[in-house]
Amino acid sequence: MSSTEDSKLSLTEDHFSQDKYQLDADTDELMSTTSQMESAIDKHIKILRRVTDDDIKKKLVIKICELRIKLNQLNDINEQLYVCGHKLVQRNDNKIGSQLICDQCLKRTKNKIFGLKKNDNMTLICQFCQFVVHRYCQTNIMRKCPKMMFEESALNVNQNEISRNVILKICPEIGLSNQDFRCAECKATITPTNSRICDYNGLYYCNCCHFGQLDATLIPARIIHNWDFTPKPVSRSSLQFINYIKLKPVLFNITELNSMLYGLVDELTQIKRVRSELTHMFKYIRICRQPTKPKISLNNYLLDENCLNCYSLSDLCHLDKLLLSVSDAHKLFMDHIINHCEGCRGKGYFCELCRDSDDLLFAFSSNVANCKICSAVYHKNCYYRQNKVCRRCQRLANKQMTNDSTINESIID
Ligand SMILES: [Zn+2]
Ligand SMILES: [Zn+2]
Ligand SMILES: [Zn+2]
Ligand SMILES: [Zn+2]
Ligand SMILES: [Zn+2]
Ligand SMILES: [Zn+2]
Repeated sequence: MSSTEDSKLSLTEDHFSQDKYQLDADTDELMSTTSQMESAIDKHIKILRRVTDDDIKKKLVIKICELRIKLNQLNDINEQLYVCGHKLVQRNDNKIGSQLICDQCLKRTKNKIFGLKKNDNMTLICQFCQFVVHRYCQTNIMRKCPKMMFEESALNVNQNEISRNVILKICPEIGLSNQDFRCAECKATITPTNSRICDYNGLYYCNCCHFGQLDATLIPARIIHNWDFTPKPVSRSSLQFINYIKLKPVLFNITELNSMLYGLVDELTQIKRVRSELTHMFKYIRICRQPTKPKISLNNYLLDENCLNCYSLSDLCHLDKLLLSVSDAHKLFMDHIINHCEGCRGKGYFCELCRDSDDLLFAFSSNVANCKICSAVYHKNCYYRQNKVCRRCQRLANKQMTNDSTINESIID
């Protein structure tokens, strides 16, 4: 094999000796998920199939065996790691500044429990809601993963959940007496002085179920109604709930929840315009057979015209980022349809009113008007000048009339 081919496959000596997939004792502490491990094995197998050099082959086979053993070990651990709906994975707790607290025993996870095996002292974290627990403590977990709540009442919009399960009233307090002076989660007795209110659900908790300012987070209701992103203290369970909806696109329909946001937030209005054109263009891209058509890197709901007003919590928190990514996709789609694809371009129209053959029009272009009846496309200006009379519909009507009169004449004959 030539050296250029070697470098193309990145089959340099380095590739095997570097710590990229090295799984020795010192990297053991790093979080390696099964999917990472599986894709590493796949990658090595693919390279193995293309390699001719025996030496490299041997090294690859050894590496794949090592990876498989490691994967099996990981699977052995993982099998037990679905507890109360939480998907618990090992978490690297050696990072500086990591201040995780076990949700079960309330001890810092950095402080290992004395007298336990290394594995039992491992820190586990839920991939869905970031619930944290020592491996040793996982048998006692009571708190369900918020994911279960969404699954129980699943109504999917393109595999995304909608915000029905989210409390959208700002801190709906009912008062301690209505809670019988008991913690909303563990039911321990609480008083006004030894309890904390959760800003998300308005309920009171004991100090073990609510860590106070330490767990301040964004409150969906405050964002939707006040466009207020100030973090507020919430209970541990509410924190995990909000973490879940932040990670997983749970969609908020702005028009239904607070349509005034469009008037208030400039970026939202811009995003809405871009998304509306994007969904039009996506209809072309979706059916285009050209292999060079743009790759879609956006979430499905951003290209779905039924979700035009739906945003996830993280969309709302990073509108600038969202505007950038929808604008990028807009540019790519537009460029493909207008400049790079005969097929897509062929679906364009010329304005029949001004007969400008240099200006190809598409339903998604901003300067066009659509006939509501036959969806013919004209320049907006031309169409309005014609008092919104559609040339095509007119022609069809005339044709119909001639047909009718010929029929009438033949009947008379
Ligand atoms: Zn969870
Ligand atoms: Zn613990
Ligand atoms: Zn409690
Ligand atoms: Zn195309
Ligand atoms: Zn025109
Ligand atoms: Zn028409």
